[in-house]
Amino acid sequence: GLPQAPSGAGAPIALSYELFPPRNEKAAASLWDTIRELEGTNPDYVSVTYGANGSNRGTAVELLNRLLRETTLRPLAHLTCVGNTADELSGIISELLDHGVRGILALRGDLPRDPGDGPRQGSLRHAQDLIELIRRVEQGRSALLCAGKVAIGVAAYPAKHPESPSVEHDVEVLLAKQRSGADFAITQVFFHADQYRELVVRARRAGVRIPIIPGVMPLTSLRRVRRLGVLTGVDPAPKLLDALGRAGDAAESRRVGVSATVDLARAALDAGAPGIHLYTFNEHAAALDVLDKLQLLRPARRAPAPELVQA
Ligand code: FAD
Repeated sequence: GLPQAPSGAGAPIALSYELFPPRNEKAAASLWDTIRELEGTNPDYVSVTYGANGSNRGTAVELLNRLLRETTLRPLAHLTCVGNTADELSGIISELLDHGVRGILALRGDLPRDPGDGPRQGSLRHAQDLIELIRRVEQGRSALLCAGKVAIGVAAYPAKHPESPSVEHDVEVLLAKQRSGADFAITQVFFHADQYRELVVRARRAGVRIPIIPGVMPLTSLRRVRRLGVLTGVDPAPKLLDALGRAGDAAESRRVGVSATVDLARAALDAGAPGIHLYTFNEHAAALDVLDKLQLLRPARRAPAPELVQA
C-alpha cells in the first residue's frame, strides 16, 4: 500500500509512478495506454500532479476518479497550498476523500513567476499547514466516511530547495512536516546519488524517521533534462549533458539515458532507499526499461500460463 513506515532490511522495494493530468483528448488516449502498461507492474501507487495555481483541478480529479473506478491502481493525489484558499482546500480534500482517495502528497506548489499573482489572501503558506489541514478534515469526518488513515506524503530535497538558506534548514522543514503528520517523503529529482545519501543521513540524524523515497526521472532526453534543471533549480550533471549531447539519435540518447538512470537509482537503493518513484512524463517505455534493468519488474497479475488454464 502507500508507504507508512520505514521498510526494514529485505523488505520489498516500493514502486510508484508520477503522472500528470492530460491536456487534451489525444494526450488522454496515450496516457491511458501508459496507465495500462504501468498497471501491469503492480505498483504501490501512482501519483497525479496538481497545477500550483489549481487551474487543472478538474482534469486532476477526473483522472483520480477514473484510476479509482477503472483500474486496480491506488492513486496518490498531489495538492498544493498556492492558488487555493484554505477553505477551498478543505472542500477539495473532502471531495478527494469522498471519491475514495486515501493518499495525498501535500505540497506548497511553485510560487507564481509574477509576484503580482502571489499567494492569495487566505491561502496556506507552507506544506506543513496543508498537512495539518488534511489531518483536521480527516478527523472531522465520521469513521464510516473515511475508513483507514489517509497517507500523507511530502517533498524532500537532495539538492537544497532554491528558496531555502541551507540543506540543514531543509531537514528542519522535513522534520516539521513529519511532526505535523507526514507519513513519507518523495524527493525532488537529483543527478548525484551522493546528494540522496547525504540527505538521508542528515534527516536521520535530525530525527526524521519516515521513509524518504528517491524520485527518479528517466534521463533520456537532453531537452527535458535541461528544462527540468531550470524548473527545479537542480543542476544536471555535466557528464550526463555531455553524453546525451553526443548521442547521435533518439535510440542512442535513450540507451545513454536509461543507463544513467539505472546507475542513479541503483546507487540510491544501495544507500538504503525503500523504493523508487519514477517521474514518467506520462510515458511508460523508458520507465519500464529502467525497472527492467534494475530487476524491479514484478510478475504481478501476469496471465496464467496456458497449461494452467487447460488443467
Ligand atoms: P514547503 O515545504 O512549504 O517549502 C517551501 C519553502 O519554504 C522551502 O524553501 C522551505 O525551506 C520553506 N519553509 C517551509 N516551511 C517553513 C517554515 N515553517 N518556516 C520557514 N520556512 C519554511 N508542484 C506543483 O505545483 N504541483 C505538483 O504536483 C508538484 N509535485 C511535486 C512532487 C514532488 C515529489 C516534489 C519534490 C515537488 C513537487 N512540486 C509540485 C514542486 C513543489 O511544489 C515545489 O518544490 C515548491 O517550491 C516547494 O514545495 P514544498 O511542498 O516542498 O514546500
